[in-house]
Amino acid sequence: MNNKTKFLAIALSIFSLSARAEKISLVGGTVINPADGKVLPNATVVIDGDKIERVAIGKQDAASLGKQIDCSGKFILPGYVDTHIHFFQSGDLFTRPDGADLNSVRSYKDEVAWVKSHLNDVFARYLRCGITSVVDVGGPFWNFEVRKTADQTQKAPRVAVAGPLISSVSREKLDLGDPPIVKIDTPDQARQFVRKLAEQKPDLVKIWYIVDKDHPVESFRPIVRATIEESHTHKIRVAVHATELETARAAVEEGADVLVHSVTDKPVDDAFVKLLKERHTILCPTLVVFERYGRTFSHQLNLTPEEKTWGNPEVIASLDVTKIPQDKLPDRIKTALAKPDETLDRIKKTYDIALPNLKRLQDAGITIAAGTDAGNIGTIHGPALFREFQLMKEAGLTPMQILQCTTANAAKLFGGDVGAHIGKIENGYFADLIILNSNPVDDIAHASDIDAVIKNGVIYPADSILR
Ligand SMILES: [Zn+2]
Repeated sequence: MNNKTKFLAIALSIFSLSARAEKISLVGGTVINPADGKVLPNATVVIDGDKIERVAIGKQDAASLGKQIDCSGKFILPGYVDTHIHFFQSGDLFTRPDGADLNSVRSYKDEVAWVKSHLNDVFARYLRCGITSVVDVGGPFWNFEVRKTADQTQKAPRVAVAGPLISSVSREKLDLGDPPIVKIDTPDQARQFVRKLAEQKPDLVKIWYIVDKDHPVESFRPIVRATIEESHTHKIRVAVHATELETARAAVEEGADVLVHSVTDKPVDDAFVKLLKERHTILCPTLVVFERYGRTFSHQLNLTPEEKTWGNPEVIASLDVTKIPQDKLPDRIKTALAKPDETLDRIKKTYDIALPNLKRLQDAGITIAAGTDAGNIGTIHGPALFREFQLMKEAGLTPMQILQCTTANAAKLFGGDVGAHIGKIENGYFADLIILNSNPVDDIAHASDIDAVIKNGVIYPADSILR
C-alpha cells in the first residue's frame, strides 16, 4: 500500500466509525423496564448503532458483544422523558413579562436573544439529567427550528413540539412578532390557524383554555371543538391546558388527547375519571411548576441539589428577587415578598387538591406522563424533573410507577414513530439509556444518581456532559 492509498483507507475507516456508532454491550447490570415493571439482574444489553439489538440474562458469547462495558452493581433504565417543557422560556426571572414585567431591568427582547443563544446549553443539561427526550408543548413558530436543531445536534434530547398556543386570551408582552400565544376568536379562525400549523408538521397542537369571569368555559368551547376537529383531520393530536375540573372535562369531551396539567381547583369526580379512561386521555401533572412562581416571588425558592448543580447558573442567579431594586419590582412580587406565608399557604392548598387527584387517576389506571413545565419562572430546564419525582412520591406513587410515568407512558405522549421506539429497553428500540449507581426502585431519589447517559447509542459519562 502506498502512502496515498494508506491515507485513504484510514480516512474511510474513520468515516465509517463516525457515521455509525460502534457495537457496545452493557454487561452484568440490573435492567429495569418500568413499562411492565420487570427487573432483570445480571443482564446484558447489546447496542448496535443507534438501536438496542437484544437484552439477555446470564453469560453471553463474548464474540457477539462488541465493546463490553462492565455494569455490575449498576442499574440500567430507559432514558427519562420530560413531557412538558418550553424552550422559548429560560426559567429565569425575566422570561414571563406577562406575569411579572421586569422589562426595566432586562428587556424581553434581550431575554429571548439569550434563550436562542443558549439552546445547546439547555440540550446538554437535559442529557446530564438522563432526559433523552422532551416534549415542548407550545411556543413561537421558531419552536419548529428548535426541533430541527436538536435533531442535528448529537448532545441533545429528542424533541417533539407544538407551535403557538391557541387561546381565548392574548399576551401582548410576549409578542415580538412571532408570539407564543395567539388569541383565536372564531371556529373558522381556529381551523385556518390549525391548517397553518399543519404545514410545520407539529407533534401536537396546543390549546391554552384559560377560563375566568370574562372567558367562561362555554364561550371558548366552540373554538376548542373546531381546533380539535381540524387537528384530527390532519392526524395531529391536541394537548390542552385546562386546570379547572369543568374546563378539563369540557376539553376531554371535545376530544382532547392530552391534558397538560393536573386539575387544581377541586377533587376529580367519578364521571371525570371514567371519561379519561374511556377516551384514553393522557394526563401530565406538572406539579413542580405550581410552587415555583410563588416561591420565587416570595423569596422562598426550594431548589433541589440537582437543580443547583445541573441547572444553568445564570438562570438560577436571576431568581433572587431581593437583588432587584425596590422601585423596579412589579406589584405581584412586592405582595409576595411582603406576605410569604400567604404565598406558601396558597401553594399548599393547590397541592392539597392536585396530589390526591394524581393518586386517584393513577389508581384508576389513567396514563400519567411525567412533566415539569420547565422554562417557567423558577422551573429549571433539566433537573426540575427530579423535584417532580419527589412530588409524585408525596402524592403516593411508588418508585416504579413514577419511573413508568417518565419512560413508557411519557413515550406515548411523545407520540409518532419516535415515541413508538423510546421508553423501553427492548429489541429495536432506540438506545437511549441511563446507567445509575443505585437502585431507583428502592428509593426514587436514586433516579438522579447517574453514572452515564446513552443517547442514540452514544455513551456519555455523566460528569463529562456539562464540562
Ligand atoms: Zn406549559
